[in-house]
Amino acid sequence: MIDYQEILDGIASNCLTATEKGKIATYIPELSKVDDSKFGIHLVDNSKNNYSAGDSDELFSIQSISKVLSLGQAMSLVGEDLWKRVDVEPSGDPFNHLSLLEMENGIPRNPLINAGAIVVADILISNLENPKLEFLNYVRELTNDNSINFDIEVAKSEKETGYRNYAAANLLKSYGNLKNDVETVLDFYFHQCSLKMSCSQLTKAFYPFMNKGVCQQGKTFLTVRQEKRINALMLTCGFYDEAGEFAFEVGLPGKSGVGGGIVALLPGKYCVATWAPGLNAKGNSKLGMEALEKLTTATAQSIF
Ligand code: GLN
Repeated sequence: MIDYQEILDGIASNCLTATEKGKIATYIPELSKVDDSKFGIHLVDNSKNNYSAGDSDELFSIQSISKVLSLGQAMSLVGEDLWKRVDVEPSGDPFNHLSLLEMENGIPRNPLINAGAIVVADILISNLENPKLEFLNYVRELTNDNSINFDIEVAKSEKETGYRNYAAANLLKSYGNLKNDVETVLDFYFHQCSLKMSCSQLTKAFYPFMNKGVCQQGKTFLTVRQEKRINALMLTCGFYDEAGEFAFEVGLPGKSGVGGGIVALLPGKYCVATWAPGLNAKGNSKLGMEALEKLTTATAQSIF
């Protein structure tokens, strides 16, 4: 039997005393206020046993981790039609790059880079009556936790400085791959990215992605095929131009956010979330990646 608690305690004590922590994202001014000494980790296994260490119940801005949740909701609403507007190839580029989008006529490489997530946001807006509220309710239902909310200050802060996302949305619009106005779509996108959650809440939200689409309360959110596809996308695209490195070091599908969070999962076995606000040069949590490498090495478990 693997002693997950002992492994998490060891990881947390290393990370909480680490001196090389990476750099906090400052391009969204509100995120620069976060304390870079934080570290949390939470793991839930397939029998719903929970293990945690450090600041695992503290709320943080989940940012791009939300792209998996919006994708899950959009896949349930529109099914295969989604793939007419977004591709499924890794980009090998940073999350906010624009050049491929122009070269490929407004079809984003995948739904986990910004341009792809902006198209997914557009699809949700076209298919929901009250998009922000219904997306929030979807996340609350996945997690069975009605306390989850947007961080309005973070959404506002990103809107004021989101020049590259405005550029991406305008390019998409010029290619006819955005049906709603740029302002409406980005307002939704900035809100979804601003969701405030803890490591422990994130493992609940991602439980269906490791459990054939079924959440901890037994409700089915995705088909087995949809779950397979979301995991394939997380593995190949979840860390942008560091997806290869994450697969190489950690060996799990996962998704990062510039708030310093990472969620990763071992299908059928466990779901784990880490939070350490300092980022590496590719915009992924430095200590979070190291922590997950230690986890899969110590447990000798990965998808490979
Ligand atoms: N909201 C952020 C942005 O669009 C998300 C980026 C990220 O977490 N990688 O720039």
